[in-house]
Amino acid sequence: MPELPEVETTRRGIERAARGRRIAELRIYEHRLRWPIEAAMPAQVIDQQIAAVERRAKYLLLRLSRGTLILHLGMSGSLRLLPRETERLKHDQFDLFLDSGMSLRFNDPRRFGSLHFTIEDPAQHKLLRSLAPEPFDREFNTDYLYRITRGRRAAIKQVLMNGRLVTGVGNIYASEALFRARINPRRSARRLTRTECARLVRAIRAALQAAIKAGGTTLRDYVGTDGNPGYFRQKLFVYERDGKPCRVCDNLTRKITQGQRSTYFCPNCQH
Ligand SMILES: [Zn+2]
Repeated sequence: MPELPEVETTRRGIERAARGRRIAELRIYEHRLRWPIEAAMPAQVIDQQIAAVERRAKYLLLRLSRGTLILHLGMSGSLRLLPRETERLKHDQFDLFLDSGMSLRFNDPRRFGSLHFTIEDPAQHKLLRSLAPEPFDREFNTDYLYRITRGRRAAIKQVLMNGRLVTGVGNIYASEALFRARINPRRSARRLTRTECARLVRAIRAALQAAIKAGGTTLRDYVGTDGNPGYFRQKLFVYERDGKPCRVCDNLTRKITQGQRSTYFCPNCQH
């Protein structure tokens, strides 16, 4: 599943090509995505200029001269920038043709992605208005993490994965951030000290930043905007390294299951 760094990488990849361009046509091949694409949408966006490409959590926002397109890549979606005459592939669901002769083409085999258009403030859109803060928001800070972990018996790893508390951390980066913060993923969240919360906030941001810098990490389905596989393997500390020596202390990295998801950690470095 594309995680926050992949979405940010996609945003950066398309921004240069899309900003300032006019939409020549939105051509939809499959309306039935996670939610149906409204039939009126192509007429609403035609001839509009793309003023900016922004991101809120894992949503891409194409700010138009009047209104905003809100795109989610879903489980398996990818957005590529292609010359408009490029032959279509199976699972290409729509084309956003630009006046430059290029197209933003959305491919999504599992059709869990979505496309909405709103002329209102997108922050108030039903998909966005109740999103929890994401790690790069100012709101997500030591005080916030300390507050939301009080009274929570759940393991800290699972609190980081709880989308109602924080959005966009994801399974890979939860493991990586806990390693960087030297906190054992099984620790009860409410036992974290304020100092540890501060360390963890910094570690989450650092883990995500490293991935964005490397161009996104995710494993299978992601394709970069240039059509190349987007998982330039960055150097991960613990993720999928079970049984291998810890990069810091040489003890063996372990894998456990928490909430049906794999967690990787070093029992020697993380307490
Ligand atoms: Zn270690």
